[in-house]
Amino acid sequence: MFRFKCSFRYNNSVHEGGVLGTCDCRPRWRTKRAAPAHRTSSISGMEEEGARPLFSFGVIADIQYADIDDGYNFVCTRRRYYRHSLKLLRRASDSWKSESPRPSFVLQLGDIIDGFNKKHDASRKALDAVLRELNNDGAAAVHHVWGNHEFYNFSREELSASALNSKGVCGAEEGAAGDSYWYDFSPAPRFRFVVLDAYDVSVIGRQERSERYGQALRLLLEHNDNEELNNPPARPGLEQRFVKFNGGFSQDQLQWLDRLLTISDEKHEKVTIVSHLPVHPSSSDPICLAWNYDEVLSVLHSHKCVVCFMAGHDHDGGYHKDFYGIHYLTFEGVIETPPEQDAFGTVYVYEDKMILKGHGRVASRILQYL
Ligand SMILES: [Zn+2]
Repeated sequence: MFRFKCSFRYNNSVHEGGVLGTCDCRPRWRTKRAAPAHRTSSISGMEEEGARPLFSFGVIADIQYADIDDGYNFVCTRRRYYRHSLKLLRRASDSWKSESPRPSFVLQLGDIIDGFNKKHDASRKALDAVLRELNNDGAAAVHHVWGNHEFYNFSREELSASALNSKGVCGAEEGAAGDSYWYDFSPAPRFRFVVLDAYDVSVIGRQERSERYGQALRLLLEHNDNEELNNPPARPGLEQRFVKFNGGFSQDQLQWLDRLLTISDEKHEKVTIVSHLPVHPSSSDPICLAWNYDEVLSVLHSHKCVVCFMAGHDHDGGYHKDFYGIHYLTFEGVIETPPEQDAFGTVYVYEDKMILKGHGRVASRILQYL
């Protein structure tokens, strides 16, 4: 067992829970399994032997930039490199720009700036800084996922009106109505990507008077009897996911996903789904899982087109391949990556597989389709 206290140490001050609650509130035990990764050299060998990829794309997670000194997570086991995260992003962006051909797009898996920016009234400035690095000099189009730190900094209305709304990018097709945020796009024939809104049902980012806020609060109170809801419930295991800094997918969203995947099945497409929150317990610490991860898995398992699910939020990363042949990748967070290391990947897409070439903390993997 572990003793839990959700607090955040920054510049010798400790913030108890509240708006700056974050995704690093994790127990010391872990249940996820990580299948062996492939050495990068063998990945390179495969690329040389095989045909050219159909297309490629970049992936990066949890940049959490803030122009403040380094800090620590609440148990002081992980250093957080708030200012350096911008330099790591620049190295990732430079790497993608140096590739030939360049990646078709980049998936930014959420928490692009840290919640501390709000406290310093620096949210817009920090967002401009990261977007400059991602968008400079003809870089690839970016598909943005919304995480908890987006909502610590901005309202849904502000996000919808900002550059973090990528619904209109790169052939994105119609998705959610209003201020919900899910959509799909097809960068090449027979391949489709889906961006999901893991905080659709949440107490962060939703107006207190809204139906979804009420739904989220009822669910949290049913499972978590702490006064501070950023603290996880006393019960161990998967119940740990019922914390304020997580969220869930609405029935509207799941029904839309189910309809979309039915069409993709008929078209014999390969579908990759992205969300800030992981949905497979073996690919993440339970404290970082989406509340209704099981409902998402049930939808994924009823469609043969799904090949991969990518997420962020758990800064330690994770990987699992399930019985249905779906690869669940949780990407290591930039924010907890030392300045001399990297944390990003480039995925090369083939007819029969995807090859993830990881950099730094991100392992390289061959993601074979069934
Ligand atoms: Zn997060």
